Amino acid sequence: MTRRSEIWQAPTRALEHMPPQSGNTVNGLGETEPRSPSPFFWHEPKYHDFGDMQGYTLGIMYGLEDAGEIREAFCINENFRPGTESGRASDGQFIHRGPDPVDVAPAKVHKTAVEWSQEVKQFALAHHADVVGIAEMRPEWVFAGFEVRERYVVVIGVAHAYEEISQAPSLPGNNRAIVEVGRQYTRAAMAAAELSNFIRGQGYETTCYPGPTAQALLMIPPAIAAGLGELGKHGSLINRKLGSSFRLSAVATDMPLETSQPDTFGADEFCLRCQVCTKACPPDAIYEDKQWVRGDKKWYVNFDTCIPYFAESRGCGICIAVCPWSLPGVADRLVISMAKRRDRSGPG
Ligand code: SF4
Ligand code: SF4
Repeated sequence: MTRRSEIWQAPTRALEHMPPQSGNTVNGLGETEPRSPSPFFWHEPKYHDFGDMQGYTLGIMYGLEDAGEIREAFCINENFRPGTESGRASDGQFIHRGPDPVDVAPAKVHKTAVEWSQEVKQFALAHHADVVGIAEMRPEWVFAGFEVRERYVVVIGVAHAYEEISQAPSLPGNNRAIVEVGRQYTRAAMAAAELSNFIRGQGYETTCYPGPTAQALLMIPPAIAAGLGELGKHGSLINRKLGSSFRLSAVATDMPLETSQPDTFGADEFCLRCQVCTKACPPDAIYEDKQWVRGDKKWYVNFDTCIPYFAESRGCGICIAVCPWSLPGVADRLVISMAKRRDRSGPG
């Protein structure tokens, strides 16, 4: 088990970029009533008060002298300039990843929802996706002030190479983990763009959600509904095959689709007894107990404590790297052992 020797203290240079308001308040920590999520970190700074911290984070990730390979992996525009208002180039952060969008075909191809779902999943798995599922859109997944018109969302997961992500955190001289994150965000973006074009070619509207920049849609809740995994104590998804070590993208569409079932395989229960990520997190940001967040009691990471370390360590990633479910060959065994545990304890 990875253990920190002491709790990391955020340097003044990072804290100076934090606004007076707590990010946990924006997120709805402690709120027992459901509400739409507020636009937040990774949205354009005009939507929230964390633009300065976001710019600082991006400046460390992409702006330092040795960050060329990081910018290349994320396909960051060569005009990126740290220290601008948003920390981004005025002409855009990412070079478009994947094919350009095609026009929606004028005539719809008609098939059943079951047939389309099979085709969509097969297409995604043949075009960069490692896991894929489908959910019906819910209002609580849409950020306040944004709109999603399409009825369904196809959620895609792409795996990290474990030997790269296990190098987290990224610090001067070792960018392997953050470069891998960039590569997989790019692959996830390509998967979404190619799937979107396939659907548009059949006559149905789409909107692409490539990540990591936030748009209208939360990513983890639809991914859970689409059967891609359970929420872990570290605030990331745990998938029964990929563990915690993967990235998400999504395509919303009005193509008629059959929804997937949520996949409950024991990860949530495992987290109740596991403390690997809580003990490994340098700033001690991971709550041991579930918290109320916008009407839902769930695992939660203290944003205000996590984000300065996340910035200083170029995306951190320790909690997903150390999670036992991420270790190669382990997830399958854990699924079996959690099923046995459930059988022994009986229903309820
Ligand atoms: S990403 Fe945040 S929560 Fe996870 S280990 Fe790093 S600092 Fe802790
Ligand atoms: S490290 Fe343990 S507690 Fe943390 S998310 Fe993974 S299984 Fe859950």
